[in-house]
Amino acid sequence: MRFGAARGLDDVVVIIVGTGIAGAVFCDGKRVLGGGYAGELGHAQVPGGLDCTCGLRGCLETIGSAGAIARRYSELTGQTVPGAREVFAAAAAGDPAGRRVIDDAITALAFSIAQLVAILGTEAVVIGGGLAQAGAALLDPLRLRVKQNLSFHRHPVLLAAQMGQDAGLIGAALRARGLLDAP
Ligand SMILES: [Zn+2]
Repeated sequence: MRFGAARGLDDVVVIIVGTGIAGAVFCDGKRVLGGGYAGELGHAQVPGGLDCTCGLRGCLETIGSAGAIARRYSELTGQTVPGAREVFAAAAAGDPAGRRVIDDAITALAFSIAQLVAILGTEAVVIGGGLAQAGAALLDPLRLRVKQNLSFHRHPVLLAAQMGQDAGLIGAALRARGLLDAP
């Protein structure tokens, strides 16, 4: 929002997709805090979601996270892979299990993004975390699926995060500076 992919925008959801999924929600230029509870979209339920470590069934991160992609591919094929990167490579090479797992993840992520957009009027969705390294292999089909899930709604742009692993550090420093500047 301050220096990265969403600079200059007011209605943004940042989704960090790694081992799990977490997010930051901005509406009308302000971060939505919800008493510290806002942004837990990895534990919002989606169709096709599986049993989650949080105790619920159906959470987005059980199917849409990089961790879930690797785990589900290993379960389907009996072949252990270190991460989602290898599954994207398998899918690109035409491997049906890889394609299925990636497709399920994109379907689930698109469902959640469309829900957010319909409820909040989000204008941009920034995707960060390990899964964002897949680049166009993730973002192109995700854009298409999100578009299919929306009609008269605002149609958000999907952007790759720009700050990488430094985002949290820079955000913490900005927060500290903001506290010092507060009257
Ligand atoms: Zn959960």
